Amino acid sequence: MPHSRRLFKGDFLMAHSLAQNRSVACPNCEQMVEAEIWLVIDAVERPDLLADIRNGTLRIMVCSQCGFSGEVDGPLLLYRPEDDPVLIFCPPATVLLPDDKPEEEAEEVAVEQMEELLDYLAEKVGPVWQKRWIEELALIPFLMLPVTLSDDPEAAARALTEQIMAGLEKLREENPEAYEEAVGTLGEFEEMLGSDVMAALVSPLTSVLDEFVSCGSWEESYEFVKAHPELVGEEAEDVLDAIIESAYMMEDDETADFLEEHLFLLERCREIGVQKAFAEKIGIPPDELA
Ligand SMILES: [Zn+2]
Repeated sequence: MPHSRRLFKGDFLMAHSLAQNRSVACPNCEQMVEAEIWLVIDAVERPDLLADIRNGTLRIMVCSQCGFSGEVDGPLLLYRPEDDPVLIFCPPATVLLPDDKPEEEAEEVAVEQMEELLDYLAEKVGPVWQKRWIEELALIPFLMLPVTLSDDPEAAARALTEQIMAGLEKLREENPEAYEEAVGTLGEFEEMLGSDVMAALVSPLTSVLDEFVSCGSWEESYEFVKAHPELVGEEAEDVLDAIIESAYMMEDDETADFLEEHLFLLERCREIGVQKAFAEKIGIPPDELA
């Protein structure tokens, strides 16, 4: 008897992408609707879903009762084995907290969710998985993803702006109050599209900056900057500035302020030298720092 061939059993062939079925309430009529939410997408395995991201339709849900269409929120891990960066993560706009978690832990929960998805993908991808992909992972707001993935980011940014303008026009007719609020956000958004934010968000300096701001003390940061001279200079400052801008965009003022403090320190490093700048920050004479 020939041994069994199991190639098509289970999900061995096409199984990197992962969707979750969730019941969500229609924002218009409150009818519960079953939504399929993609959490992990392998761009090579599912070019159809990649096209949906580019068209801005990936997370669009249509209510079967009233016909309302809207976007369903959720995290997304995009795996692009043939592109750079290989991994892109879009955090959810709102973190769904388990019942026992207070609001303050939202960020922590978001990071845990991202790590879970990374673990899932690493296991599915198997031996070709590379640790450096995580170091090079790009964090990008879901809204910006079509622009990031486009071969022509400027044209995509324009198309996205037009799409938003059309949506706003509809909103103005249906809900003038929400419209006023949205216009304010859009002003910032247009500014962001016009800036170098997108280039910065995919810069290799982003992960080095991320490690820099994650240091536990200024002394530790000092050692880190000495080991990473690429952090001192206008290029790193521009990237950090863009990250700060996107934090403001996402109305995360706390993170933005925290990053501003680090940006100021890097500027001082460039102006007066690393040792003097850190001594100034810590409040000790420069020669006390090795
Ligand atoms: Zn509905």
